[in-house]
Amino acid sequence: MDSCEIAIVGSGFAGSLLARVLRVLGYDVALFERGAHPRFAIGESSTPLANLSLERLGFRYGLPDCHHMATHGRWLARYPEVRRGLKRGFTFYRHHPGESFANRGLQSERLLVAASPSDDLSDTHWLRADVDHHFVREAVASGVDYRDHADLTNVDVGFDGIRLRGERNGIPFSLRANFIVDASGPGGFLASQLAIPSGLGKTETRAALLFSHFDDVGLIADAVPGLPRGPYVDDWAAVHHVIDEGWMYSLRFDHGTTSAGFLLSPRGMGTLETRDGETLWRALLARYPTIAALFGDARALMPMAFRPLIQHRLTRAAGARWALMPHAFAFVDPLFSTGIAWSLRAVERLGGLFEVAKRSAGMPDATALARYESLLAAEADQIDRLVAGAYESMAHFELFTAQAMLYFAAVSYAEVSQRIIRDDAVAWKGFLGVGDTVLDALPSESLRRLRAITRGEADTGSVDARREFSEWIAQAISPRNVAGLADGERNNLYPADFDILLAQHALLGLTRDELVAALPGLRGTSGAAQGVMHGENSSCLAFP
Ligand SMILES: Cc1cc2nc3c(=O)[nH]c(=O)nc-3n(C[C@H](O)[C@H](O)[C@H](O)COP(=O)(O)OP(=O)(O)OC[C@H]3O[C@@H](n4cnc5c(N)ncnc54)[C@H](O)[C@@H]3O)c2cc1C
Repeated sequence: MDSCEIAIVGSGFAGSLLARVLRVLGYDVALFERGAHPRFAIGESSTPLANLSLERLGFRYGLPDCHHMATHGRWLARYPEVRRGLKRGFTFYRHHPGESFANRGLQSERLLVAASPSDDLSDTHWLRADVDHHFVREAVASGVDYRDHADLTNVDVGFDGIRLRGERNGIPFSLRANFIVDASGPGGFLASQLAIPSGLGKTETRAALLFSHFDDVGLIADAVPGLPRGPYVDDWAAVHHVIDEGWMYSLRFDHGTTSAGFLLSPRGMGTLETRDGETLWRALLARYPTIAALFGDARALMPMAFRPLIQHRLTRAAGARWALMPHAFAFVDPLFSTGIAWSLRAVERLGGLFEVAKRSAGMPDATALARYESLLAAEADQIDRLVAGAYESMAHFELFTAQAMLYFAAVSYAEVSQRIIRDDAVAWKGFLGVGDTVLDALPSESLRRLRAITRGEADTGSVDARREFSEWIAQAISPRNVAGLADGERNNLYPADFDILLAQHALLGLTRDELVAALPGLRGTSGAAQGVMHGENSSCLAFP
């Protein structure tokens, strides 16, 4: 029988990157994939926190491609063949049935939040077919034993080790391992093998998904001429169209293809009479003229796919000799693009656990795995409450913009503090404010307040109720608001503004001078070249 130290199931970017990190640490790793690369996948919009994790993985484990793929400019220069899209920030519009998007100038139902100061330093959308293929090739090059077309049929997790059985190209195999990581996504390999009960009952968010990839999607500037200039070009972003039935994402890649999909709430689905993908698509476009103007001439590159429920959640995330990656453990919703960042954080965490373990028993101990599990559970709850609140707030754009500020406050504070304050345990900081004395409780309180306004029935609430909610959000995030968010004077257009950050130095526990001195650690400050910008981080210099 074959053997290895660690078996990983699933070769999305998370499984492949973890496999590679473990190889660097000296482990013997087998990586199983039921399909083969390149293969289609969604989950494409990256974020500053995702890129921060990529950079940290690159520096810590000597993986130059991770560093290079952490900004649009470096990616384009080094890996032009790996397709990606420019993502300058988060764009939101509120549409109403039967009406074109109303360009009311600065009073439009439009929200733009920049995530980077320039195209060069921008985040990216990942064309997952290319990106995941890249990472699996790098894993193979690092010495990972990669087996695609693997049909895993059975796993025994015993006190003395793991026994994995399956079939590959019609030939049965079995393999012994000391530890197994499930990176199979919602496929839920270990969930069924270990009979892990579902935890979906305790989650709030529910949505159906209708999606495809398209060519020839129109530009906002053409569909809605005369929109006031924002901090970046509206289309080069994760574009969100908020509608009565839920919302739509639209992610444009540099080569012209756009990934788009509708997330439809149970209430929204109740207004649609069909479950057929093509018919649903046409029905939704017929309701929203501006979305129809953008997508009317678009060509779907594959049939519209419909999934009646995309949320999943398990009650366990780790145990003796096994661990789940986040996407195998839970998925809430693509709103706010949390998946890639969360998955990369887990790669950092598991990498760290195995790094420590290598110095002793070779495998993470029960305490370490329990910590991993409880953090993942708390984070899944936090994402769920934040997103459930966002769905509730879609009743009125004023509520929605306020709710969105919770997300932007948490991630901008995390990005800035993690970039400028050195902390070796940073990967264990809770995602989206988990464990933060200010931010931790906010999504749950916000959801409660929103439900009181909407009464769970999409009521828009009174002018006073909406204003009170917005004021509460502004006040609640103020101890972490390093980005000048929730500012009525900004007309919902938020650039990456370093002057505001400097003015908020005290929120980071720094004097103004200390923050000025730390600024080179941030991307985009001081006009310095990227290598110099990160110059104090010596490992960066290893990636010319
Ligand atoms: C509609 C939607 C939109 C999303 N949008 C975003 C977004 O914009 N931004 C963001 O950050 N995140 C987004 N996400 C989340 C994102 O998709 C995930 O975080 C990400 O895919 C996790 O990557 P992964 O490598 O863990 O798993 P996956 O990408 O799910 O990869 C799992 C791999 O395991 C393989 N596999 C499955 N079962 C088995 C098995 N039994 N044996 C062997 N191999 C197996 C699969 O073939 C696949 O290759 C979105 C998710 C959805 C559903």
